[in-house]
Amino acid sequence: MSQEIPYKIYLEESEMPTRWYNLRADMKNKPAPLLNPQTHQPMTFEELRGVFCDELVRQELDDTTPFVDIPQEIRDFYKMYRPSPLVRAYCLEKKLDTPAKIYYKFEGNNTSGSHKLNSAIAQAYYAKQQGLKGVCTETGAGQWGTALSMACAYLGLDCKVYMVKCSYEQKPFRREVMRTYGASVTPSPSMETSVGRKILQAHPNTTGSLGCAISEAVEAATTRPGYRYVLGSVLSQVMLHQSIIGLESKAALDKYGVKPDLIIGCAGGGSNLGGLIAPFMGEVLRGEAAYRFIAVEPASCPSFTRGKFAYDFCDTGMVCPLAKMYTLGSGFIPSASHAGGLRYHGMSSVLSQLYHDGYMEARAVEQTSVFAAAEEFARCEGILPAPESSHAIRVAMDEALRCKQTGEAKTILFGLTGTGYFDMMAYERYHDGAMTDSVPTEEELQAGFAGLPQV
Ligand SMILES: *Cc1c(COP(=O)(O)O)cnc(C)c1O
Repeated sequence: MSQEIPYKIYLEESEMPTRWYNLRADMKNKPAPLLNPQTHQPMTFEELRGVFCDELVRQELDDTTPFVDIPQEIRDFYKMYRPSPLVRAYCLEKKLDTPAKIYYKFEGNNTSGSHKLNSAIAQAYYAKQQGLKGVCTETGAGQWGTALSMACAYLGLDCKVYMVKCSYEQKPFRREVMRTYGASVTPSPSMETSVGRKILQAHPNTTGSLGCAISEAVEAATTRPGYRYVLGSVLSQVMLHQSIIGLESKAALDKYGVKPDLIIGCAGGGSNLGGLIAPFMGEVLRGEAAYRFIAVEPASCPSFTRGKFAYDFCDTGMVCPLAKMYTLGSGFIPSASHAGGLRYHGMSSVLSQLYHDGYMEARAVEQTSVFAAAEEFARCEGILPAPESSHAIRVAMDEALRCKQTGEAKTILFGLTGTGYFDMMAYERYHDGAMTDSVPTEEELQAGFAGLPQV
């Protein structure tokens, strides 16, 4: 098509997706089921419903239904901040002097500053529908806790957040945003839960980890009547809700007859990447199209590129179901010098299976090069990106520069998951030249793998 592509492709409200897409329905090799950590048998609906809301358990266990209607109330909420813009990065293309055509889907245009609100509103909605009083969760960098607080405030649900202690201390403004939306925020590990007390007894000076905060949130949710646990990534239900990102992207590109060659996203637990690629991957799985997909992860927490595909614990306290995924072991904690998010030890089972089956590539990048890309992007495209998102920017730029060498005019789509206003301490370290790269040694990885359960 010769039609001029605008800087931003928006969808009309009437063009917004009305159904989420469940990629698992089109997978021949389904992701391995969650297992009960004691019996190693697949988790049943009855077992899971003590932890999660009923409807979310149904979604988690559903590998066959391709489309799920988005309830009207969630669609109405989406309309407040969606559709998110699909941007043609003309300025970046010019700066890189590349023949590549670069597009990004920007999910940072809401107060929580990331894509996490897409699933937060869905999870809070189903909790409310079930007549629950509230939800408990953990948050690391803070985006998920913020998104959930916003969703709970909107629906009138109680929200209890266990925030990894070092993040609680380093990001007081994040904490205050959550409290503004009515959430109660506790630094983790805390004395409020038995698992927190146990961890504090063993490691009195610990600054916490995501895996540990998950254990506390699960305990809090399962010991309080009228509460359930909710999680912002990794689970298949989260990826289902995040498919809104890919569905909107595809609808916008289709309007102009654009087909991406390469789709790139950062991968922490895999939810934004899974959501972005879902409809495109579906076409590949059904034999209708060919695309290349690249997952980008930090070299300091390289689940895909150096992890093992195995059943593992999802949390430090080992209370959650076992998931089969690319993992570094639940005891693995990335170097303290790592500032760029994406520090979870495991990865979505859906993406893990697709990667294992050769449908997706993965690349690990070092944080100084990530921040260099972030800064270059901010200076020409204007948006100050989250460090997590900047992993995708790095590889999108690398691929565009490769096109410059080969003269290929490839079309690149990447996910810009959020903004980085609460990450200025990391930017400061980068600007001061105080940021270092850390790559775990073989021995460190082996120590993580040694903690994998025997399944
Ligand atoms: C949480 C987060 C991520 C990583 O999570 P995924 O589940 O892998 O998508 C990436 N970017 C931002 C801005 C986030 O908040």
